[in-house]
Amino acid sequence: MGRVYNFSAGPAVLPEEVLKEAAEEMLDYQGTGMSVMEMSHRSKAFDSIIKDAEKDIRELMNIPDNYKVLFLQGGASQQFAAVPMNLMKNGKAAYIVTGQWAKKAYQEAQMYGEAVAVASSADKTFSYIPDCSDLDIPDDADYVYICENNTIYGTKFKTLPNTKGHTLVADVSSCFLSEPVDVTKYGVIYGGVQKNVGPAGVVIAIIREDLITDDVLPGTPTMLKWKTQADADSLYNTPPCYGIYICGKVFKWIKKMGGLEAMKAHNEKKAKILYDYLDESKLFKGTVEPKDRSLMNVPFVTGNDELDKKFVAEAKAAGFENLKGHRTVGGMRASIYNAMPIEGVEKLVEFMKKFEAENS
Ligand SMILES: *Cc1c(COP(=O)(O)O)cnc(C)c1O
Repeated sequence: MGRVYNFSAGPAVLPEEVLKEAAEEMLDYQGTGMSVMEMSHRSKAFDSIIKDAEKDIRELMNIPDNYKVLFLQGGASQQFAAVPMNLMKNGKAAYIVTGQWAKKAYQEAQMYGEAVAVASSADKTFSYIPDCSDLDIPDDADYVYICENNTIYGTKFKTLPNTKGHTLVADVSSCFLSEPVDVTKYGVIYGGVQKNVGPAGVVIAIIREDLITDDVLPGTPTMLKWKTQADADSLYNTPPCYGIYICGKVFKWIKKMGGLEAMKAHNEKKAKILYDYLDESKLFKGTVEPKDRSLMNVPFVTGNDELDKKFVAEAKAAGFENLKGHRTVGGMRASIYNAMPIEGVEKLVEFMKKFEAENS
């Protein structure tokens, strides 16, 4: 069996080219006679891998010099704790709750200080992004937190909230490197890489230098203190070496594809094919407010659970994998990250049309 079209929300599809290159280098990385998995994280070869990776992501995202780029472990979920531990100087933060991941971060922050939910879209099952142009943000809030792309619900912030001068912290796990960003608008951008950038096990955190200090909450573990990691250039302890190596290859692939502007155009083209069909279909329907639709995660339903199940099963048999919606929302979800080729979405829509004809 060949490769399938993999619509998994994460871990997710990676560029085939990257996987092939990694396969070629598996037994002997560039004449070292060993795999990247087998080499010291203090070796010359790995030093080049991590430095190149940092250089390339800086170039792709146009990251200013006063931001550090950290390669961390623990998943995005561990940053739910690290963010308040490192930033809650006044013990207070504002959270915009637009889905499960934002809610988890909000709940985690409550363990460390006063987390205030200043906006939420829970009233309509997180199917939209609330108006964040004039929120009631406490003056002494240390930061405003968002989950920029809501992986489970398929919404995305198209404009960033008005933080009224407060530091913006964003979990970008499922929209990392999908389009250009203005890094200067954020204090912290972080994400697990397993959605759009690489294999599970790496979190990339891009943090403005003035936010990296020794002044953290009492009891903050050494490993969760950003300063520990920043001072050691992400090599305080053994980093997720192999994952970082693959991320580095993905950065080079994106550069070759034309960078983030090109990625955005590619992603918009792909998403439009699917959304256009959802808008005209009599059977399938998108679940998100059109203005807030994500380019990466596209949830949809037929309105009939049995038919949803039948669709997922038949799609799987036809080579379209992982279209089942998140267990908390049901229905279907197609995650169409950077590495999903346009043909994958075209063929999925063809298949959906056929299914619609046969089932209406
Ligand atoms: C997947 C995901 C997470 C959780 O990531 P882990 O690395 O499993 O902790 C957090 N936030 C968002 C937006 C996600 O999509």
